[in-house]
Amino acid sequence: MEHKMNFYMPTKLFQEWNVVENHKQELASFGKKALIVTGKHSSRANGSLDDVTKALESQGTEYVIYDQIEENPTIPMVMEAAEVGKTQGADFVIGIGGGSPLDAAKAIALMILNRDSSSEVLYQPLPLRALPVIAVPTTCGTGSEVTPYAILTRDDIQTKQSISHKIFPALALVDPKYLQTAAGSVLVNTAIDALGHLIESYFNTNASEYSRMLCVTGMEVWSAGRNVLLGMEPESEDLDNFMLASSLAGMAISHTSTTLPHGLSYYLTYHKGIPHGKAVGYFLPGYLRLFAEEMDVEVMMVLRTLGFGSLEQFEGFIRECIGTPVITAEEKEQMLDDMMAVERKLKAVPTALTREKIAAIFPDA
Ligand code: NAP
Ligand code: ZN
Repeated sequence: MEHKMNFYMPTKLFQEWNVVENHKQELASFGKKALIVTGKHSSRANGSLDDVTKALESQGTEYVIYDQIEENPTIPMVMEAAEVGKTQGADFVIGIGGGSPLDAAKAIALMILNRDSSSEVLYQPLPLRALPVIAVPTTCGTGSEVTPYAILTRDDIQTKQSISHKIFPALALVDPKYLQTAAGSVLVNTAIDALGHLIESYFNTNASEYSRMLCVTGMEVWSAGRNVLLGMEPESEDLDNFMLASSLAGMAISHTSTTLPHGLSYYLTYHKGIPHGKAVGYFLPGYLRLFAEEMDVEVMMVLRTLGFGSLEQFEGFIRECIGTPVITAEEKEQMLDDMMAVERKLKAVPTALTREKIAAIFPDA
């Protein structure tokens, strides 16, 4: 069989405890003045913001902080932060936090470099570049530190969508210690997001041996810590494993993109405020069920790698972690309409799809 493949992972990544302190020279080497992009609270509580500012100060690098990024970042938020970066003369951007600040940092880096453009260019297929982005993740879900995606809330079309430009961070500094302060729900929601990336990337028409290798190792590592998601106190090794699984999963989706569970999740996040990972997780058992006949060997292999003996056991575990959503018949129809319109995601599913088959992956089906 011919192996026609590509592999592109331009982000330099370090994962270790105290990673920012250990790599401060490299962190500061990207420019003269950093725009630090972060959320309102967590990066102060978990020490990541302090680590980064201390590292920059130790190297004599200037910085300005924009700390107003909220969950599911919006275009006005990006434009406000870019304005700060422009007026303050930032020449690189450091995103600190969960996927929301990291994704926002990428879009902001694009808008600073293209200083005279309006926000419309975010969603136009133009050959635009961005300032260098450094990512310091503090959740274990999105893998945004190694993906080229930047998902923003689009109020104009009432959903969430990745910008048109592919912006890989130049450097990712991954420290499991930042998860120590994460509430159980943040750990659960983001670890389930990473699981979604692993599963959706594995069962994907864009998958290759390279991307599946990332998924399989990601699943093994993820499974080692999974009981923490049911309330067990995490050991530092568990936090280490979740961070690693998240980055491996991010590298995998960089090559394949995500599929139905992510596509369906955006409605639940936009209209019902359900956190991203949770909204994805509801559809994961159904997504595996979609392949249970045609690809039974692969489904069993994936379940076993994740530490489950059957699809039912997996479904029970997911339900115990995140519960079951209430989705009305009307909402379901709207979600199916929306999903059927995203051809790119439908094409990534490795089986012939119908509207009924997609309806069957809903948690109440
Ligand atoms: P998030 O939206 O970045 O943050 C969720 C919450 O967790 C916020 O309240 C945040 O507080 C808090 N938080 C972050 N780190 C914490 C820590 N270490 N301890 C305690 N609390 C912490 O969550 P996320 O799930 O990581 O990111 C979701 C976003 O990423 C969505 O917009 C999703 O669409 C996107 N996403 C992107 C990709 C990609 O490839 N780029 C892939 C999947 C999803 P603060 O607000 O105070 O910081
Ligand atoms: Zn996701």
